[in-house]
Amino acid sequence: MMTGAQYRASLDDGRSIFFEGERVKHLPDHPILGPAVDTVARCYDRFHSAAPGAESPLMSVARSAADLKTRLPLLHEADLVAHVTYQSIMTLTTAATRVGDGRYTERVAAYVAGVRARDLRVTECITDAKGDRGLSPGKQPDPDAYTRVVERRPDGVVVRGAKLHISGACLGHELMVIPTKSMKPGEEPYAIACAVPVNAPGVKIVNTSYAPRHADTRDFPFSARNSCPEGFVILDDVFVPSERVFLDGEVQHAGVFAHALGLWERLGGLSFLVEEADQLVGFAQLIAEANGLAGVGHIREKISEMIIHATLVRAALEAAIGNCGFGTDGAAYPDELFTNAGKYLGAANYHQMVRHLHDIAGGSVLTAPAIADLENTEVGPLVKKYMAGAAGVDGGYRMRLFHAIRDLTADAYGGWKFVTNIQAGGGLYAQRIVTRKHYDLDGAKRKALTSAGLLNGGGH
Ligand SMILES: Cc1cc2nc3c(=O)[nH]c(=O)nc-3n(C[C@H](O)[C@H](O)[C@H](O)COP(=O)(O)OP(=O)(O)OC[C@H]3O[C@@H](n4cnc5c(N)ncnc54)[C@H](O)[C@@H]3O)c2cc1C
Repeated sequence: MMTGAQYRASLDDGRSIFFEGERVKHLPDHPILGPAVDTVARCYDRFHSAAPGAESPLMSVARSAADLKTRLPLLHEADLVAHVTYQSIMTLTTAATRVGDGRYTERVAAYVAGVRARDLRVTECITDAKGDRGLSPGKQPDPDAYTRVVERRPDGVVVRGAKLHISGACLGHELMVIPTKSMKPGEEPYAIACAVPVNAPGVKIVNTSYAPRHADTRDFPFSARNSCPEGFVILDDVFVPSERVFLDGEVQHAGVFAHALGLWERLGGLSFLVEEADQLVGFAQLIAEANGLAGVGHIREKISEMIIHATLVRAALEAAIGNCGFGTDGAAYPDELFTNAGKYLGAANYHQMVRHLHDIAGGSVLTAPAIADLENTEVGPLVKKYMAGAAGVDGGYRMRLFHAIRDLTADAYGGWKFVTNIQAGGGLYAQRIVTRKHYDLDGAKRKALTSAGLLNGGGH
């Protein structure tokens, strides 16, 4: 297994990384992207074992509901790149089982074993540029709007396209490239799934980041620790050797990868939403107490509503795991219905929960002076005096609560969370489609007819 230091060294592999118009020469030293490298390196150290042949506990396949459940807190301790690595491995394993083509199953098994043995990080490259959303891949004015095979060679394929919004792409070692949707006959070049090293010739990653750009990060307690760049991954005629190709032209199976990723991505998203819902409740209660308003009726009601939301999202996660299914290889996977309905519930109501928190907290969420102002001899004591709240509540503590709430919900990281909770793992619509597909609609109709006494009386 790699240590944090070995991970840092592994990034010096000639990869083409860009940030705000410039090529990044040395990723770990970059002022904005570097702290994200530190986060990944810390996770390597946290889970490192020097035992010969040891493998990361973050990468093993769950075999039971209990396995799935114990994995989640472990993944929450890990950084986002470790998280998406787990999801990538599970996606490939689940999809290979469902495709059921021996040749691809063997390649996926060998690839996953190699990733585990070398303790690599893999990011999920599914979302294409997509051009005109109303047109299918083959009808786009630019045929590269969806990633496709542009050349075949005896020993592999050449791939062209772009995968957008790829979380942590520049921080990983491998890109798991899979079709973003089902494909139809005639769209064979677009039915391509493969694994591409980040430093392969032709790969270029343009990054964005919500990491704080302030020298003093005390006012950014979340984003200073959690920043993870999003990659705009360009595949500019990248050669992929055959042993790294997991689907090539079999349009009938293209959707299998997207569905498998959707399931694991949404389980991960749901598990984060569960933690976030509890955090929002916690901040709402803490700031209400600090403001001296915890006993006031309308504030208690809002917090009760937030508690009910947090509890129901947690219940969906428990149900998704408790009702897990099993692949032919014995791997456990979460229940589709509860995973998708739970992810939808958590994401769709997230804004409402944040609205309650902002309503309860007050305007200092945005306007509290910086922590550094407390240290200014002229204004510091006055800032502390006037930021004090309920009896016994220190002004500095109350300010720190406001900064945490701002960073989490109302600044660059908060904005990222707003959009990410809705879009990551597919927009809300995607979860509605899958929920509907797995819900027993006929059963519901039967219940309605039975309850109305219509089952044998002409109802259909
Ligand atoms: C912060 C962040 C991180 C992400 N991380 C990853 C990642 O690691 N890997 C990855 O692959 N992707 C990632 N995504 C991408 C995410 O899955 C997509 O943003 C999402 O699937 C929506 O795609 P889009 O952004 O292209 O929007 P669009 O597809 O343009 O969707 C916008 C809206 O239009 C609707 N729509 C689109 N097409 C149609 C149509 N034909 N008919 C009807 N309605 C339509 C959608 O339902 C949605 O409401 C991430 C996104 C974000 C914001």
